Amino acid sequence: MQHYDLVIVGAGMIGLTAALALKDSGLSVAVVDSQEYPIPSFDKPELRVSAINLSSEQIFENLGAWQGVASRRMQAYQNMHVWEQDSFARIEFNHQDIQRNHLGTIVENEVVRQALLDQVKEQADIDLICPVTITSIAFGQSECFISLSNEQTFTAKLVIGADGANSYVRRVANLPFTFWDYDHIAIVATIETELEHNNTARQAFTQDGPLAFLPLYDPNLCSIVWSQKVEKAEQLLALDESAFNQAINVAIDGKLGVCKLASPRVSYPLKMRYCRQWLANRVMIIGDAAHTIHPLAGQGANLGIADAAALAQTLIEVKNKGKDIGDVKYLRALERWRKAEAMKMIATMEGFKRLFDGANPLQKLVRGLGVSVTNQIAPLKRDIISQAVGVDGNLPELAKPANAKVK
Ligand SMILES: Cc1cc2nc3c(=O)[nH]c(=O)nc-3n(C[C@H](O)[C@H](O)[C@H](O)COP(=O)(O)OP(=O)(O)OC[C@H]3O[C@@H](n4cnc5c(N)ncnc54)[C@H](O)[C@@H]3O)c2cc1C
Repeated sequence: MQHYDLVIVGAGMIGLTAALALKDSGLSVAVVDSQEYPIPSFDKPELRVSAINLSSEQIFENLGAWQGVASRRMQAYQNMHVWEQDSFARIEFNHQDIQRNHLGTIVENEVVRQALLDQVKEQADIDLICPVTITSIAFGQSECFISLSNEQTFTAKLVIGADGANSYVRRVANLPFTFWDYDHIAIVATIETELEHNNTARQAFTQDGPLAFLPLYDPNLCSIVWSQKVEKAEQLLALDESAFNQAINVAIDGKLGVCKLASPRVSYPLKMRYCRQWLANRVMIIGDAAHTIHPLAGQGANLGIADAAALAQTLIEVKNKGKDIGDVKYLRALERWRKAEAMKMIATMEGFKRLFDGANPLQKLVRGLGVSVTNQIAPLKRDIISQAVGVDGNLPELAKPANAKVK
């Protein structure tokens, strides 16, 4: 039976980041996914995109994967405009507010995965095993036993569940989690705009939820994430193309001239999930397996990328001390660290959602005053934007420019 130090279930953005962050660590790693790789190349923008923050960009840079993103397709944005429809509440951020040359980058999820895969494939001590499904995991005292649908079996000191929101690993390890429905559905599509996006990410808070226009590599293309209350979202999805175009033009307040659909619409029901325990004997979960949050501030993947970098940092430290990487007692501090970061983000998202909930005129007036005053106070604005772009907080070493590699 083959043995690995670590088996990562899930070759999404988070699982691949974790694997790559362990390169040259001396640990043998297998990454298992039920999807086929390599991913076929694509001409049109993929519908799922992420706002990658500066901390994640630094992690990818330090892992040698950012060049693979830049050479494919991406769009850095320098400005962020946030406003409430039919109100004077608005706040604008600029890259100069934090003395950086951009605030973040909009990248198609598949572009990130391709760039990470290019690097993973170069590593002799990382095996990518796919497409296979895991048929069982048994957690033993000193190792785990894993069986795959292709009859392969192996043992590992530690299993990492990076297998997304409906994590199999979370389920078999019996890790308890809390969830609630946001009662929102996110509509995602690519939109062609009459006016150029000017490298600006825009977010309009409409009566039934936020609408984000995220600038793509083409100056007249944006990816939208329109989170709406369930009933409203279903109505919007049922509209024909021209009626939907009309609705989107109203919702974006005409800021980008005439806008029209350039792709099908897809929808995602939104749920908050937070795992109360990320760690058990010889297993840990990270990324969406451990937390899913409202996409309104585009932070879910960023949180998971930091989980992956923090995990690798801790495992390397444990290994270098000659200790067992699967022993929970060496991973407790890591679990506390990442749970605290996730909790902070969930609370911030709830605060945002509540701040912009409610169409009562008095509420709107108070909100308008608060947001407009914030817009005038430079230090307050700097604090908000620093958190949003990921340059504040308890960052893993890989997210810091001075440390090109985990020691
Ligand atoms: C509409 C929307 C917009 C978003 N926008 C942003 C944004 O702008 N910025 C941001 O940071 N985040 C954003 N997010 C969140 C982000 O998309 C997720 O946090 C991120 O994709 C999670 O990555 P992951 O690798 O943890 O999970 P996934 O991407 O779900 O990957 C899981 C992998 O595990 C594999 N897998 C699953 N089960 C098994 C199994 N049993 N065996 C083997 N393999 C398995 C799957 O095939 C998949 O490859 C958004 C989310 C939504 C819904």
